[in-house]
Amino acid sequence: GMPAPPPPVLAPRRKTRQIKVGSVGVGSESPVSVQSMTTTPTTDINATLQQIAELTAAGCDIVRVACPSADDAEALPIIARKSKIPVIADIHFQPKYVFAAIDAGCAGVRVNPGNIRKFDDQVKEIAQAARDAGVSIRIGVNAGSLDPRLLRKYGKATPEALVESAVWEASLFEEHGFHDFKISVKHNDPVVMVRAYELLAERGDWPLHLGVTEAGPAFQGTIKSATAFGALLSKGIGDTIRVSLSAPPVEEIKVGNQILQSLNLRPRKLEIVSCPSCGRAQVDVYTLAEQVTKGLEGMTVPLRVAVMGCVVNGPGEAREADLGVASGNGKGQIFVKGQVIKTVPEDQIVETLIEEAMRIAEEMGNA
Ligand code: SF4
Repeated sequence: GMPAPPPPVLAPRRKTRQIKVGSVGVGSESPVSVQSMTTTPTTDINATLQQIAELTAAGCDIVRVACPSADDAEALPIIARKSKIPVIADIHFQPKYVFAAIDAGCAGVRVNPGNIRKFDDQVKEIAQAARDAGVSIRIGVNAGSLDPRLLRKYGKATPEALVESAVWEASLFEEHGFHDFKISVKHNDPVVMVRAYELLAERGDWPLHLGVTEAGPAFQGTIKSATAFGALLSKGIGDTIRVSLSAPPVEEIKVGNQILQSLNLRPRKLEIVSCPSCGRAQVDVYTLAEQVTKGLEGMTVPLRVAVMGCVVNGPGEAREADLGVASGNGKGQIFVKGQVIKTVPEDQIVETLIEEAMRIAEEMGNA
């Protein structure tokens, strides 16, 4: 039959220049990608590769590793070679590691102009080395390490200050004919951050890497990132994202993927449509939704599963989903593609839903 039309998005992507981070395209011609950063010491090659493998399995497209010392730089060649996803080396303070990372076969290098003394004098050589190796750069401006000149001029890291720093550094690379870079202007305040990216998007067609920096522990950081990225992505701004959480990096990938899935910028996978429950609920919706989510974790086929507490909205939502349950009177009506296929006692709802989900997944897989 006809392929289903792509799901609607809130805005077309803003047109940008296109770059490559290894095999991953970044820019308006490519889907928005998700990044994270390893937390292991980069010198611990096995632990770092293990974490990269976990991130890859969770849906990470690009991974960044810190490179604060010569020992870290020495670990980069093996990491870059063995990682299944492109590796970006994160460089502050020491430009010599930029060259080491390029020699090591990293797909990209992140530089922070605010943290590299006399950065401007080195742009020519960096551009030359990156061009020769086919490596892309991220100009990563960060509120916490803003260029001291701009900090003096603006008093603090305002959106205008972040953008001025970024545009200045971009112009230096461009003067040397180098265009394979993306830009980030991160701030921990979503309002400042969103404004900065909006201003930056007006100034040029650079691909943009979105991030709310130091967003905090998982709950706060998730909300801050989702709010800020949502505001920008809903206007088509943003080509690659990194959620920063004080939590294991796999959590950042789950959040990043969920943000993109919510905006139809990435195909939805398992989606649980569960009600918040209310005084009408005739079943413990929280436990039921949690058990179903747990039981179906790791499913890779797109599946909407409705878990509803009563018959008010229950049958309607359960019918709209691929699979669902509407509970009441100690029983659950199980729906598959809009049809009640059976009614089971409450204590069999979870196992029945999981069974049916597996069956549907198998059919989809074999289709
Ligand atoms: Fe309340 Fe029923 Fe709606 Fe759930 S489906 S929120 S229990 S009315």
